[in-house]
Amino acid sequence: MTLQSSKATACEVGPIRPPSEATSLLIRVSRNCPWNKCVFCPVYKGEKFSKRTEEAVMADIDRLAQAATAVRGRAALTGELGAISVETCLSILRDPAATEDEKRVALWLHRGGAHVFIQDADSLALPAERVARILTHLCQTFPSVNRVTTYARSRTLVAKSIDQLKTLRSAGLTRIHIGVESGSKDVLALIQKGATPEHHVEGCRRAIEAGFEVCCYVMPGLGGRQFTHAHADETATVLKAIGPKHIRLRTMWIVPGSPLDDMHRAGAFQLLEEDDVVAEIMRMLDGLVGADSQIVSDHDFNLLMEIEGHATDDAALLKQTCEAFLALSPEKRDAFIVARRTGHARSLNAFLKDPTAIQPFIAEADRLKKIGSGSLVKGLTMDFIHRSI
Ligand code: SF4
Repeated sequence: MTLQSSKATACEVGPIRPPSEATSLLIRVSRNCPWNKCVFCPVYKGEKFSKRTEEAVMADIDRLAQAATAVRGRAALTGELGAISVETCLSILRDPAATEDEKRVALWLHRGGAHVFIQDADSLALPAERVARILTHLCQTFPSVNRVTTYARSRTLVAKSIDQLKTLRSAGLTRIHIGVESGSKDVLALIQKGATPEHHVEGCRRAIEAGFEVCCYVMPGLGGRQFTHAHADETATVLKAIGPKHIRLRTMWIVPGSPLDDMHRAGAFQLLEEDDVVAEIMRMLDGLVGADSQIVSDHDFNLLMEIEGHATDDAALLKQTCEAFLALSPEKRDAFIVARRTGHARSLNAFLKDPTAIQPFIAEADRLKKIGSGSLVKGLTMDFIHRSI
């Protein structure tokens, strides 16, 4: 059967979403970032921020609804009346006649059809009433949706009234992802975040007061060598003052050609080694004891992906992985970095379980250091991250 939904231009989709929104349908309400000055961030550089019209976004939602009807019609042919099976999903993904919208919707429905992420970098820069109307239309069109999330800058949240935020919450927005990055005013100034620790606390607290789940992103390594202690300590202080539901780690990286790359080359920013970053994370975890937040290390840029648990209840467990890494001999540490950054290891625990599998990576780390300046393992980390962008 050929799918029947509209073959008109596909819905517009922005370039990124948080890792935790992998199963979400993406709806783009604005393009790019209204700030766009953070020195580490490559995502929207050279692009101008713009607000999509309400009509254009509503038309995208209607187009996705048409696609969903076509996908469900195809599933019904094989007796599927509820969830979309993997077989139906794959047949649509492989069907040259299927539209991009149908493929996206098939995948989304197969994964539950319950989560939506609103793009791009700061959706709440739009008037709250406009976003609320879009949310209402979205939730009416897809009644299976039970989680709608978005990125927002803390300064944008500060500029919204509690009533406006409550309007958005009532219209169906449930979670806000906020790039806190650091709680140190020096680090925030260095990276040109355009927000102070006070903005972060005020903006996030407002969102929590309005009933949102708040998810704060922080970037280990972002203070470089100069600010590593302040970055760890003051970030913990700010996060404790906020009390977000989730704290997500996303290791800092340097993108070639970025302002941070220029600063690094000029000596104004000194990159931490991987083990320094792990020590920094441990210090931040110490500062977070007492916080009622879940800590997650779910970004592929992170060396230690198994750091996960409650900041207070699981404090010892959270530190255990960091301690296990730092307790390794330098050879084994480098071997794990090589394995992890070449895509051969995902978890430290699994890596350490098989001593014979470690040997080739010890040899490879040794070889890299001999042919290079001794910092090739760090170069490998940056290469890995660049390949992942
Ligand atoms: S606010 Fe976010 S998207 Fe915008 S430049 Fe900064 S990190 Fe990038």
